[in-house]
Amino acid sequence: MKIAFFDAKPYDKPSFDAFGAKSGVQYKYFETKLTEDTVELAHDCDGVCVFVNDTVNAAVIDKLTEMGVSIVALRCAGFNNVDVKHAYGKVHVLRVPAYSPYAVAEHTMALLLTSIRRIHKAYIRTRDFNFSLTNMTGFDLHGKTVGVIGTGKIGRVFIDICRGFGMKVLAYDKFPAQGLADGENIRYVELDELFANSDVISLHCPLTEETYHVINEQSLEKCKKGVVILNTSRGALVDAEALLSGIKSRKVGAACLDVYEEESDLFFEDFSGHILEDDVLARLISMPNVIVTSHQAFLTEEALSNIAETTTQNIKQMIENGQCPNELCFRGDSAQDCKSGKCF
Ligand code: NAD
Repeated sequence: MKIAFFDAKPYDKPSFDAFGAKSGVQYKYFETKLTEDTVELAHDCDGVCVFVNDTVNAAVIDKLTEMGVSIVALRCAGFNNVDVKHAYGKVHVLRVPAYSPYAVAEHTMALLLTSIRRIHKAYIRTRDFNFSLTNMTGFDLHGKTVGVIGTGKIGRVFIDICRGFGMKVLAYDKFPAQGLADGENIRYVELDELFANSDVISLHCPLTEETYHVINEQSLEKCKKGVVILNTSRGALVDAEALLSGIKSRKVGAACLDVYEEESDLFFEDFSGHILEDDVLARLISMPNVIVTSHQAFLTEEALSNIAETTTQNIKQMIENGQCPNELCFRGDSAQDCKSGKCF
């Protein structure tokens, strides 16, 4: 079983080679992303293995089908970069629905604490033997309210972490989780109430037409002055220009972004020494109260190992049995994991 592995990074190879060798799956690594221009690299393979910024649009899917490549194995949970509707009946789209919600939730809290306790500033100051505390005042999380949009696997772990800090939780989800709200410290509310009453807002929902730019000019208007925005989910949940305006006007107290709407040509690559063309990102990064990490929330040893194991199992199951529970089915107007094993 030969799989063309796009957007390969040095940290991917050890775990994929190890699980691949055990399962008879041979990964052929390409540093380039999957696009309409690079799809032909997969011509002699059974499938492609792709990540968050690879392009699996209609043209790529048609080319894969033409070459007889029938598997698109996502090594991530989100699938907003795949035209699932077009893929239906043409290629099998497999994903890793969960690999370590702790990795992402813990990174979210790391960003929050770094930002509000000015750790990023302190690190640079003390390395320069500057021991001044001027402009370093933070605030306690204890007793503050966090608004969590999306209470799935990651959102719920993040809520647990926040509860450990003594925070109150306002939650919003299109499909609220049974048994999560306790009526006192964790309450499901409508978005407007969440915006109006949260000191910190953290995004943990998928990117869909409904959630696109859920943080925008109008929603920021409804927020408390000084609100802290955390996005470790998908870039386009936040209208970056509106966020920048909110920071300039002091409405937004801080922002921590692990994802960015226009990240696909930038994140995961080294552009030091280059002139950054994206003025919005450059201006955001220049702000003292903005922290950007480049889609690294998933990057723990545990998560990498789980991703490689599940991706490899998905491919093996699909090739050997013709079905896989982690195959995305497109039914009606939404995609979901296959429960029946009969996607085509
Ligand atoms: P999940 O499927 O377990 O949870 C998503 C939750 O969002 C569900 O409870 C769902 O009901 C809810 N939801 C769906 N539509 C909604 C809407 N319109 N409004 C509000 N809530 C809605 O997913 P998860 O594993 O918790 O992951 C959440 C997101 O985190 C993923 O979609 C992915 O984009 C992102 N993610 C980021 C990284 C990273 O490295 N930064 C890694 C993994 C996942």
